[in-house]
Amino acid sequence: AKESGKNQYKIFHTDMEATSKHRLMVQNDLRSAIKQGEIQLYYQPQVNVRSHEVYGCEVLVRWRHPKHGLLAPDLFIPHAEESGLVPLIDYYVIEGACRQAKEWLDEGLDLVVSVNLSGLHFRDRKVVDALRRALDITGLPPNYLGVELTEAVLISDSELAIQVVGEIKDLGIKISLDDFGVGYSSLNYLRTLPFDVVKLDKSFISGILTSPQDQRLTEGIMNLAASLQLDVVAEGVESSEQADYLQGINCYLLQGYFFLPPRPKAEFESWLASWQPP
Ligand code: C2E
Ligand code: CA
Ligand code: CA
Ligand code: CA
Repeated sequence: AKESGKNQYKIFHTDMEATSKHRLMVQNDLRSAIKQGEIQLYYQPQVNVRSHEVYGCEVLVRWRHPKHGLLAPDLFIPHAEESGLVPLIDYYVIEGACRQAKEWLDEGLDLVVSVNLSGLHFRDRKVVDALRRALDITGLPPNYLGVELTEAVLISDSELAIQVVGEIKDLGIKISLDDFGVGYSSLNYLRTLPFDVVKLDKSFISGILTSPQDQRLTEGIMNLAASLQLDVVAEGVESSEQADYLQGINCYLLQGYFFLPPRPKAEFESWLASWQPP
């Protein structure tokens, strides 16, 4: 028992070491990464397959690291959250997204551009100021900006969080509940928070053609959303069969690799220019 205890400690210790090294690297590099332009905005379309229009896009952040290559957000956002650096990234993304949306609008492309906000923002009101400032300096009308929140928003101090979400709504920004269906008590949040959109988590979509349970849940969510007058965006749509099925249950705002994976601006724009409804 003593031996295995020792081994467990060793494994634990090694993991901790790796993690704290990684964390230090992230903390040291992140500030300069933003200054150096290594943090990049990727865009993934959200398509309305009923009106055959591109409704908008989601901004997904990437870190083009000089040593480690292109890093997905799961590799640095959690560390940025722990070290308090996530607002730095999110404010940068918010401003970039507003600038981009305004540029597209001036070119005649009316796209709702949505950003992801960490749940940590909802412990104070700073994010409201950041959103207001980004709209002000770019001149973007607020209805072209969306924010995607998860239930994590409400974990810390829900009174304040509810107020902050309300203030974002009052700015005229569209609010989506992300990853819907995977959390604890989303139903209650739908009642207490002013959402415009729920995003069906991609774990449902992956089972939608084969799992009767995922089909029933998805249809239930569609009915619920309809009765609450919420739009539904299905994420993680990878095939035309999934897209057809979703459209058949009245879910027509779709996002996923079937249309386009997240891409840098230039590639997203050429996709836009050549997009034909399926
Ligand atoms: P999310 O908001 O749930 O984003 C959806 C994820 O699904 C993205 O992963 C996207 O690339 C991926 N995805 C899109 N279509 C498909 C598909 O058809 N199939 C599959 N299997 N996956 C698909 P990504 O880009 O790695 O982002 C991961 C998470 O990182 C996001 O999850 C979001 O929570 C977070 N994130 C991304 N950008 C930001 C940001 O600027 N700020 C913050 N705070 N978080 C961010
Ligand atoms: Ca999202
Ligand atoms: Ca999601
Ligand atoms: Ca997610």
